[in-house]
Parts: sequence; structure tokens; C-alpha cells
Amino acid sequence: MTEPVKVLTEFVHEDESWTIDRYLRAGGYEAARKACTEMQPEEIIDFVKRSGLRGRGGAGFPTGLKWSFVPKDTDRPKFLALNGDESEPGTFKDRLVMERWPHSIIEGALIACRAVGISTVYLYIRGEMPLGYRRLVGAVKEAYDRGFLGKNIFGIDGFDVDMTIHRGAGAYICGEETGMLSSIEGGRGYPKLKPPFPAVSGLFGMPTVVNNVVTIAYLPYIFGRGIEWWRSFGTEKSPGLMPYSVSGHVERRGVYELPLGVTLRELFELAGGWSRPMKAVIPGGSSSKVLRLPDAWDVPMTFEGPMEAGSMLGSAAVVFMDETVCMVDALYNLLRFYEHESCGQCTPCREGTGWSVKIVRRIAQGKGRPGDIETLLGIADQAIGKTICVFAEAFGWPIQSYVALFRDEFEAYIRKGAHVAHGAQPQAAAHAG
Ligand code: SF4
Repeated sequence: MTEPVKVLTEFVHEDESWTIDRYLRAGGYEAARKACTEMQPEEIIDFVKRSGLRGRGGAGFPTGLKWSFVPKDTDRPKFLALNGDESEPGTFKDRLVMERWPHSIIEGALIACRAVGISTVYLYIRGEMPLGYRRLVGAVKEAYDRGFLGKNIFGIDGFDVDMTIHRGAGAYICGEETGMLSSIEGGRGYPKLKPPFPAVSGLFGMPTVVNNVVTIAYLPYIFGRGIEWWRSFGTEKSPGLMPYSVSGHVERRGVYELPLGVTLRELFELAGGWSRPMKAVIPGGSSSKVLRLPDAWDVPMTFEGPMEAGSMLGSAAVVFMDETVCMVDALYNLLRFYEHESCGQCTPCREGTGWSVKIVRRIAQGKGRPGDIETLLGIADQAIGKTICVFAEAFGWPIQSYVALFRDEFEAYIRKGAHVAHGAQPQAAAHAG
């Protein structure tokens, strides 16, 4: 059985874990001091590359490689934009770190700034996290007071870093990196076509590194304890640790910090299991493809494991579903969310989310028509890969996977009507429309 390894989560249950005094007692800011005073920027980037650290926000892009894309010889200002707009249903790992261990993010940001030559940091936090916002604002103030933000940090002449906490207004799409940058600029959170990528033209048109807050929070530990320590967890291609958000049908829902490579079965057991037989699991947040249980029990939660099983690691938000879950209803629930959150710029997404909700709702209400399943799949097919951002995949992949794995339930609804096809009153049946 893989054992939890508490690094970011070691002290989060203590009172006042978010204060700088608690962080300093745990050795805080020493790793950044060492990295910034003893290593050249190029060496820091190379260190991160060799550690194999990949983004913990969903895309899993190699962090050191991303930093190396930022132009070095430029007079233009560069920015670090930290993504704490955690909105993917089922995901709550960033929130825990922002609320209970925020100085690890500030310390990691210092390392990134030193490596890339950045002096301005924006941390974008989801609007519905007022506690995290207050804690981050407090942590930033403490860091300024103790000289970890501001001018000549660690006594290094000209190493100046300013940090601003920017609150979102509650839009899922601001978790997409270009949507987030648009929002920080003061505009609507509209994603932009890439290229150009933010590393070249990001915030205010300037070179910008965008990193997830948890990715950045791991940096002090990697620099403090070494590459060998970090690589002793996980696999060659997926080294290190991950805070998994575990929810749904398990006894103890919560964040479990474990090495990459833990299996879905182990996660389920660590979370206390469940009293009824299990039916399905979403391995990487609501936009990842659903997997059938028991088939997926032994899938290793690396960047490659869920992909080989037909899904993705995503934000490592694992949602377990037992045999009582109606998959038509589950898909309806997800699609309502995506319909609400589409920013509306692209027709296949704006229209596709709306039409797919209508179709799945009428199926769940027992009013499905022959051909509805094909129409649904057609909507997903016409959206995926044809829009500005990957939101089309986020609502298209669930449609494809729920239908592919549980088609019998959709067909039963269409053939017999909601109440005959499924014992429980589906949630969708309660909604008019
Ligand atoms: Fe907006 Fe959807 Fe287009 Fe993304 S895919 S830009 S969310 S309309």
C-alpha cells in the first residue's frame, strides 16, 4: 500500500499554520534563500528541469521547460501569474494550500522570479474563496514586513519582487491561463487563441510565466531536499508528489498527498472505502473522461496512467461513484455546470453546451427520442478541437465517455422513460424545460 507523504500538508491541521512564524519554524524561506544566493538563474531553471517537476494544475507541462521559453535578453517587463482559480468540480487541493500553507507559494514564487528575471507576481484566486484570499493577503503582508517581498530580497542587490493577490469573480473559464490573464488585465475572462503563448506575449502583452499555485509551492521542497529526494517518489516520467482531491462515495473525503503512481484502488482504500459496490470513477476532475469500475481499480495515477486507460490525470480530482448513481443524471449535472460556465465566444461551445443540456434533460425525464444519443455525440464531435480553448473538450469528453461506457442506461431511458429505466427519481426530472 502506498503511504501518504505529507509535505505541503504536514502542518495544515495546526492552528495558525498560515502564519509566517509557523512557516519559519518549519524552515521556511531557507530553500529560496539558498537557491537565490548560491545559484545563477540558468542553474535554477536547469535544476527544475532535472527534477522533472510538471504542472499540478491540469495540463502537466514540464515547469522548467516552460520557464525556459521566456525571452532572456529583453527590456520588457516580465510577469509571474499564479493560478489559484481552482474551479474544476471535484478539485480542492489548491484551496487547502492557499488557506493553510500560503507561504510555500510565496517562497516558490521567489525562486521562479529569480530564475526568470521577474519582479512582479499576480496570484489569481477564485472569488468564492474568501478565506484563502484573506490568508494570502495576510501572508503577503507578513512577507513584506520580514523582507521576503519588496526590495533587495535576501540581500541581493536589485532582486526586487512585488506580489498582488487578485480576486476573481467566480468564472470557471478564468482557470484557463489566457482567460485568467484577460481577467487580471481588467477585461472579461475571455480565453485567447494560442499562439502566441503567454511566455512570449502574456499579461499586458509581456512575457509571462503562468504556473499553478501548488506547482510553485513544491519548489522550496525540491530545492531544500534535492532532486534525488523528489525523484524517489513517482515514476521516471511522473516524479514527485501530488495532493489528490478525493470525493464522492468514500468514507473520508479530503486531500491526500501521495506519490504519483498511487492506484485508484489505493486512493479509495485510504479514503475509507464505501459500503456499496462501485460503478465508476472520474480520475482527474469533471472534464476528464469517466472510467468504469472495477476495470480501472489498478490504474496508476501518473500523467500517463489514466491516459492509457482512456482518460487523464488532469487536476488529480478523483470522484468515486457507487452503483446507485444514475449516469444519465450524473452527465446532466455536469453539463448544466458547463452550460453555465461557457464564456460564449465560440459557437460550438456556446450552442453545444446549451443543446446537450436540453437533450440529456429530456432523456432523463423519459422524453428522449430515437437519435438523441447520436445527436449528443455529434455535438461533442463538432466542438472538440474546434474552439479557442479546451472548454469544448471539457464538456465533450464527458459526453463521449458517459455514452460509450454506459450507453445501456441512456438507451433504457429513451426506450422506457425515466421512472421505469431507473429506480430513483432522477434529478433532471425535477427540472422544467
Ligand atoms: Fe469560451 Fe467555450 Fe470558446 Fe473556450 S471554447 S473560448 S469557453 S466559448
